[in-house]
Amino acid sequence: MDASIISQILPLRSRFHRRLVATVVLLGSGLLVGCDRGAPTAKNGGAASSGTDSSTVSSAAQTAVAHNGSARNIVTTTGMVRDIVRQVVGERWTVTGLIESGVDPHLFKPTRGDVKRLNDAEVVFYSGLALEGRMSETFEQLRRAGKPVFAVTDQIEAASLRTPPEFADHHDPHVWMDAALWSQCVEHVGESLAKLDPPHADEYHERATAYRAELTRLDEYARRSIASIPESQRVLVTAHDAFGYFSQAYGIEVKSVQGVSTEAEAGVSDVNRLVDLLVERKLPAIFVESSVNAKNIKAVIEGAASRGVTVRVGGELFSDAMGQDGTYEGTYLGMIDHNVTTIVRALGGDAPEKGMDGKLEAK
Ligand code: ZN
Repeated sequence: MDASIISQILPLRSRFHRRLVATVVLLGSGLLVGCDRGAPTAKNGGAASSGTDSSTVSSAAQTAVAHNGSARNIVTTTGMVRDIVRQVVGERWTVTGLIESGVDPHLFKPTRGDVKRLNDAEVVFYSGLALEGRMSETFEQLRRAGKPVFAVTDQIEAASLRTPPEFADHHDPHVWMDAALWSQCVEHVGESLAKLDPPHADEYHERATAYRAELTRLDEYARRSIASIPESQRVLVTAHDAFGYFSQAYGIEVKSVQGVSTEAEAGVSDVNRLVDLLVERKLPAIFVESSVNAKNIKAVIEGAASRGVTVRVGGELFSDAMGQDGTYEGTYLGMIDHNVTTIVRALGGDAPEKGMDGKLEAK
């Protein structure tokens, strides 16, 4: 491993370190609490510590929404949350997102303009599990002001959540990588809206059920397609640690260059370990991510090349952000379809070029 590769690894490792530090600070401030269902304090990171359960709508908030028929405006955080809320409400509400395509939600800090938009919203939905770690205080303030604020991941059973060591005792927030788990979040959105707006409850439930059927189809496509990759090559090597749920749900090993340690030395050994794996398993491709710097992936490819093994970049995956709003890849369905199809085709499995429904942009 030469010095240039080491210098390529360092900035990414320090970025990951910052994230861990942010996590520890949150833990220290008591904002993140245990994961038991039914705990009196909101459990999914970033939720209020004041005893407010985000799944319970205060009657004041419910009345405010029920009596206000005109300006129905929902603000969400990530594109993935915006999309499922849109699916459930249809045309009935205006739904906008704060975190743009390609922006890292772990590091997103709301501007004053964002806070105003949140204040002006009738309802706020966010991902939760401390994904939007720098927004916790804002969510808490909104709740104190009586605004209905929901983490879409709030009702997922703790047993379904990952708690890997690198997330410092709290849950892995990248739940959307498992379509079946994300589908549970859709149900929670439907229930929350039905409570807020009882006259249209049936409509929200029906829309949520119809969309969940689409997610089941997506989940089956992912399972079937990933299983078609030759077993020895069923390994996903990416830059960042977002694919743990994907791995668990679809039976593909996941290795990311950003390992569990924050030591620079471990960074180099992470790269070396990945190069060993690529050489040993003869993996044809590794992947970059749209919201993460590709330098460390390049280092792995160079490492393999120095041992006479050619590995290509199998494509760009969406991890923490979707494609542009208004495109198929800018929907949750399109995002996961793109990821699955790209991975399967690059690793020698069987998937149609344009994905599950022929909607993916041709490469
Ligand atoms: Zn992430």
